[in-house]
Amino acid sequence: MHLIVCLKPVPKPGTVRVDPKTHTLKRDSAQLILNPPDLYALEMAVELKETYGGKVTALMMGPPNAAELLREAYALGADEMVLLSDRAFAGSDTLATSYVLSRGIKRLEPYDLVLMGKASIDGETAQVGPETAAWLGLPSVIQVKKIQREGDHGWVVVRVREGYEEELFLSGPAVVTVEPGINDPRPPSLKRLLAVRELAPRLFSAQDLECEPEKLGLSGSPTQVLDVFAPSYQREQILLTGEPEEVAQELVSHLRTRGLI
Ligand SMILES: Cc1cc2nc3c(=O)[nH]c(=O)nc-3n(C[C@H](O)[C@H](O)[C@H](O)COP(=O)(O)OP(=O)(O)OC[C@H]3O[C@@H](n4cnc5c(N)ncnc54)[C@H](O)[C@@H]3O)c2cc1C
Repeated sequence: MHLIVCLKPVPKPGTVRVDPKTHTLKRDSAQLILNPPDLYALEMAVELKETYGGKVTALMMGPPNAAELLREAYALGADEMVLLSDRAFAGSDTLATSYVLSRGIKRLEPYDLVLMGKASIDGETAQVGPETAAWLGLPSVIQVKKIQREGDHGWVVVRVREGYEEELFLSGPAVVTVEPGINDPRPPSLKRLLAVRELAPRLFSAQDLECEPEKLGLSGSPTQVLDVFAPSYQREQILLTGEPEEVAQELVSHLRTRGLI
């Protein structure tokens, strides 16, 4: 069984700056970490491997220095490391990112399941999973908390909904996003940390993946970030004083004037 887990390199909170001209993140100055919600997807994949056998491939689109994070994924139980890296990927929005990931996933065929985190802690759109599934022509299930093999190729998955859970059957490969908090990601193994010192991730460029150039980077990104700013809230403060009855009447009158009651 081949399980692919997509892991996003994200800036460590507090180390990121925004380019005032392009409104994109200045990643060069930021310290990168594995996107924390993706650790639940990795743990789920490693547990599935332990139950059913097979291998787990950690897949990442990111700058060359993100290779170190793939080594961390190896120490956490992944068996193979793949980095998709090319200057042509810079400026990609979720559509272009999911296109590149789908090209990488196709390159790793055959596979049985693609697992992702629910959302990143920086972009936080939760779009990349379903979009990658669309590029691959596969079903996608979001917010999954449990997965079991069913027959030779199928899966039974349980996903979390608001106030209830849903059980679904998937007849073959699919892209699932894993609900945070559903397992306890294991600590890195010392043996694996030592072994990975001798290993390097496989590296694929846009050309290796036979990407269509117009689908990459800013030209492949229909989303335009016009501005990035901290929202400002205007608050009016009114202090009501007097006897409780008077205050209550005055409060009701203020609420009526503003159309709130
Ligand atoms: C116009 C525009 C320009 C942008 N320019 C840049 C830029 O120059 N540089 C830049 O770094 N970002 C840029 N971004 C941000 C970029 O779009 C997002 O980082 C990326 O598309 C992922 O979206 P997200 O963070 O919302 O992921 P989500 O959809 O919230 O992530 C869900 C899951 O998808 C998987 N995933 C997401 N991204 C990756 C990845 N790279 N590798 C592996 N798995 C992944 C993970 O499992 C993750 O948990 C830009 C965004 C826009 C809109």
